[in-house]
Amino acid sequence: MLRRTVREFASRYVAPLAKRIDAENWYPRELVRDMGKMGILTPNIPEDLGGAGLDLLGVSVVLEEIARYSGSASLIPEVQGTLVAHVIAKYGGRRIVEEVVPKLASGEAIGSFALSEPCCGSDAANIETTIERQGGEWVVKGTKMWTTQGLYADYFLVFGRIGDRSERHRNIAAVLIKRGSCIKVNPIEVVGFRGTGTAEVIIDGCRAGDNDLISPPPMGFKAAMDALNVGRVAISALGIGLAEAAFEEAYSFLTQRVAFGKPVIEFQGIQFRLAELYTMIESGRSMVYRAAELHTKGYEDFPVAAAATKLHVARISVEVAGEALRLMGGYGYSRESNVERIYRDAKLLEIGEGTNEVQMLVISKHIYRKGAKWLI
Ligand SMILES: Cc1cc2nc3c(=O)[nH]c(=O)nc-3n(C[C@H](O)[C@H](O)[C@H](O)COP(=O)(O)OP(=O)(O)OC[C@H]3O[C@@H](n4cnc5c(N)ncnc54)[C@H](O)[C@@H]3O)c2cc1C
Repeated sequence: MLRRTVREFASRYVAPLAKRIDAENWYPRELVRDMGKMGILTPNIPEDLGGAGLDLLGVSVVLEEIARYSGSASLIPEVQGTLVAHVIAKYGGRRIVEEVVPKLASGEAIGSFALSEPCCGSDAANIETTIERQGGEWVVKGTKMWTTQGLYADYFLVFGRIGDRSERHRNIAAVLIKRGSCIKVNPIEVVGFRGTGTAEVIIDGCRAGDNDLISPPPMGFKAAMDALNVGRVAISALGIGLAEAAFEEAYSFLTQRVAFGKPVIEFQGIQFRLAELYTMIESGRSMVYRAAELHTKGYEDFPVAAAATKLHVARISVEVAGEALRLMGGYGYSRESNVERIYRDAKLLEIGEGTNEVQMLVISKHIYRKGAKWLI
């Protein structure tokens, strides 16, 4: 039912915009409001705050279905819901939650998750942004990189440190900053997920009250990692949607394209390759749905399941999209095809919300600590 509803919405409202979002690097502001009206802009947020109240399995279905039509359109609720609104709703005080989360849920406001910096992405505990106490307020200074929705955000969930950098993760806090004259944003041209407002964000002495300090140390870094663990499953669901779309494009092309007197799909070499790609997609989907279930059950090793899922799905979505492109011959390689866009989008899965190596760090730490202990 959820899947059907979102698929209908996405085929009606997302599909017609997908090419423009990518080609013109165009942020679909009205679509964001439409997703808000449907409750799927922050699908994980409780209904009384304007979300859809879905568990991670439901969120995964939403993101997978939107991504079948546009990766960029799916990244917007992924960031707005599972990263930004998630942290504010879970760690923020009641006043700030009631003030900000419904605006993020409805699409009245745009939120961004500002953790990565020019110095540090994988080594997030080494960030340089400072949060200092001055005259009863918090003063925030620093530069953030790669911030999705940064160009258009009304609220920036900024991670910075209160005190010395040598403390690493121990003194990191999350603070919510409203867009104002203390913020400057510079666009960053990226190859995929275009139209999502990727930006460098310069924070020059923004002031925040105690209410805006969403998660003080030592919980600030934990809040970031909590969001990223959930986000890794969510972005994997998005990756599965991309892979499914690429597979379907290739399948449809191969049934129509004739070579050596018959449709190309009738060659067994092609059928076997499709069988392999199909199996890869099903393996990734199973991991996403199982990781989501482990999250809902509060399983303690959920972060390991999330990391393994993200690592696997990053690899298979890139391989499926690349193979779909190749199987479609010259057309697949042309700017007219959808698979070239899907391939560019899929490549981000190997980098965003933790590179493949970072997922391997999480998994190998688990093996080192617990030995050959399986997840369930
Ligand atoms: C389109 C896009 C959108 C993004 N959106 C956001 C966002 O909204 N918010 C946000 O905070 N960030 C965002 N990011 C940033 C993203 O999370 C980082 O790019 C990512 O974490 C990698 O960090 P980095 O680019 O600094 O690479 P680095 O950390 O410098 O890594 C460079 C290379 O070194 C490898 N490496 C690093 N450490 C190790 C190690 N210990 N062992 C082995 N290899 C290692 C990495 O795997 C990588 O291959 C976005 C990035 C992109 C491209």
